[in-house]
Amino acid sequence: MGKIILTGDRPTGRLHIGHYAGSLKRRVELQNSGEYEKTYIMIADAQALTDNADNPEKVRQNIIEVALDYLACGLDPEKSTLFIQSQISELCELTFYYMDLVTVSRLQRNPTVKAEIQMRNFETSIPVGFFTYPISQAADITAFKATTVPVGEDQLPMIEQTREIVRKFNTVYDEVLVEPDALLPENQACMRLPGTDGKAKMSKSIGNCIYLSDSADEVRKKVMGMYTDPLHLQVSDPGHLEGNTVFIYLDAFCRQEHFERYLPEYAGLDELKAHYQRGGLGDVKVKKFLNNVLQEELEPVRSRRKEYEKDIPAIYDILKKGSGEAREVAAQTLSDVKRAMKINYFDDADLIQAQVEKYR
Ligand code: ATP
Ligand code: MG
Repeated sequence: MGKIILTGDRPTGRLHIGHYAGSLKRRVELQNSGEYEKTYIMIADAQALTDNADNPEKVRQNIIEVALDYLACGLDPEKSTLFIQSQISELCELTFYYMDLVTVSRLQRNPTVKAEIQMRNFETSIPVGFFTYPISQAADITAFKATTVPVGEDQLPMIEQTREIVRKFNTVYDEVLVEPDALLPENQACMRLPGTDGKAKMSKSIGNCIYLSDSADEVRKKVMGMYTDPLHLQVSDPGHLEGNTVFIYLDAFCRQEHFERYLPEYAGLDELKAHYQRGGLGDVKVKKFLNNVLQEELEPVRSRRKEYEKDIPAIYDILKKGSGEAREVAAQTLSDVKRAMKINYFDDADLIQAQVEKYR
């Protein structure tokens, strides 16, 4: 069987350069590589509702934003199935059955969920849906028999949880589900891109983002205001690279050709870093360089987005068609799952016959 990709994003805001570096850019490459039999890209609205129950309008409004960002980055509906999670009710059924295969203590050990609970001040009262979202993610992945899940580092515990559910299901019932592998970014800096405040992961829920759809001016302002090295007060002071967001972004985005175009007095990033550490290189110069690098990367995305924005009903049509295709695949898996669990009573002639014998 060929390799299958499933991945997605929560429609809690427009997509940012953390998504781009951590997952989106890679997805487009994978989609175009010809190595995958199918690529499924899901807008995870049901998951977004697990921690936005009191703000459903936010989720509803952001579906189109995420879809526009997808298309702007080069995800192609001819090659990838783009769909909306809530439209595939089979995913809820799968989640319900997988819940029997997972313990509360196992969910409590999930480090990403732990951190997210803290971030959202859910410590004293966690919505059950939010607590169990790793199980619903297992349903999303396995419904499409995905082999490969391109994600950022924060998603590793979810993939591990999925693999455990698959093994348990296949052992208890029958070999129906496929164990997926996470596909992490190759570049260390892209694993978990920090926000412009340097404090945490760039995240829609924190608001420390450079969005793919930000104007050139907004990007420039955010870059010029970025967190660097608090000890680097004067240009002549030696600077530090650890935790320095500007250099982390350069690690993630800058290529050799950017030096030739925007900073020819340096041979490359290593030389720039060495100068910064030695002292004598100001933050403003480095930020201006980063701004040039980001603008070059984001300009084509921005202008493609503008084109797609001209026909919004067409975007909903793409999602509707994709959701229809996705639903057929998920329904097939659900049917396999129910057969393995032997809860397909009406198709089970042996069961009916056995009951006949019992009462003969
Ligand atoms: P939210 O704050 O609503 O959770 P988010 O910004 O964390 O939003 P998600 O929709 O949860 O975004 O994540 C979608 C995908 O993007 C996941 O694969 C995740 O690993 C990846 N991702 C998100 N933020 C980053 C980041 N800062 N760096 C690298 N990858 C990221
Ligand atoms: Mg997240």
